[in-house]
Amino acid sequence: MAIATLPVKGGVVHRLGTLFHSGTAQRARYHSHHPRGGEERRTATFSSRSNINGMSICHASAAGSAAMEIEHVDFGERSYPIYIGKDILDQGELLRKHIPGKTALIVTNETIAPLYLDRCVKAITEDGRIKADVVILPDGEEYKSVHVLSQIWDKALECRLDRRTTFVALGGGVVGDMTGFAAASYQRGVNFIQVPTTVMAQVDSSVGGKTGVNHPLGKNMIGAFYQPQCVLIDTASLDTLPDRELASGISEIIKYGLIRDAELFVWLEENMDRLLARDPEAFTYAIQRSCANKAEVVAEDEKEGGVRATLNLGHTFGHAIEAAAGYGTWLHGEAVGTGIIMASDMSKRLGWISSELDERIKKLIIKARLPTTPPEEM
Ligand code: NAD
Repeated sequence: MAIATLPVKGGVVHRLGTLFHSGTAQRARYHSHHPRGGEERRTATFSSRSNINGMSICHASAAGSAAMEIEHVDFGERSYPIYIGKDILDQGELLRKHIPGKTALIVTNETIAPLYLDRCVKAITEDGRIKADVVILPDGEEYKSVHVLSQIWDKALECRLDRRTTFVALGGGVVGDMTGFAAASYQRGVNFIQVPTTVMAQVDSSVGGKTGVNHPLGKNMIGAFYQPQCVLIDTASLDTLPDRELASGISEIIKYGLIRDAELFVWLEENMDRLLARDPEAFTYAIQRSCANKAEVVAEDEKEGGVRATLNLGHTFGHAIEAAAGYGTWLHGEAVGTGIIMASDMSKRLGWISSELDERIKKLIIKARLPTTPPEEM
């Protein structure tokens, strides 16, 4: 079958042809040298291989602990690990070894704090070496502003945190983006760690270093590229996530299948029900695969001069939907899901992809229980 193309943000055109070539999926590689990741590699042993629908998966597990996947984002000296596993928030050492100083500032919001804050504080402080302070922000995209962000700087200054402190983002994409930008700018840059708790944040926003806040004149208009020291993904945190948020994040997993991982797309066609049922094994696989794809793209093009723009598939239409409906009405991933359908439809009409592929894309978005048509006012 023919190679297809889809238009994405900024007029960049990328290939959808991966769906038609076997074996093109690109797995993250366990590189032989990572200045900041070497320790993990030494303590991790590949304890088993499993097979999900014909795909072989490496499980790296730290000695004596539950199974855990480790991906690496390769930025030379700024490389960092992504730990993925169930209940790994309780493995405090994973976080502590990325906190070189004696202080940490945990940033979260009022929804996530009652669910996971105590465990996060315990993980960081339990050996007595590190003192943790906490900032609890209001919950919502409308609070992703410089005004609310200054609460993080205020708290850090009140607590007299110095340049050796580490900011820890505990939450979804909003908390992660804000904490990252606060870390990038506090005393000209302090360490930070991502502990993402939504599907959206676990498969997308916590990896790659885009941080920032919204401006009244545009979303994510103020920010910085700033990489974390590590990303810790506790898949058990998805148990408390509302269904709508879960589906919203799945749209970004579908995106990876379309832009560069044909095997993942086919796997999603066959396993979407397992994701919606929150099957932990299926989720671990989908998150690992998504992170591996994102890690490869951002390592190649950190500041979006080229291939990173493919990660915006569906986002041009999606941002238009979010803006037309009023921010907060549609979830980001819902708008991206419909945006992917719109991009696919346009590509079909331009003769770039087949009707058959367009149908498969639509079917998968419907299966994920995502909306498929833009708001009427558009
Ligand atoms: P979010 O951070 O608003 O989280 C969604 C909701 O779920 C919130 O109400 C939150 O409090 C709640 N929540 C989070 N974790 C929970 C849990 N485990 N249990 C129960 N409730 C939980 O939204 P999001 O979808 O995670 O992220 C969207 C944001 O991410 C947007 O601001 C978007 O711009 C940004 N984003 C950034 C990037 C990037 O590369 N930096 C990529 C994609 C999206």
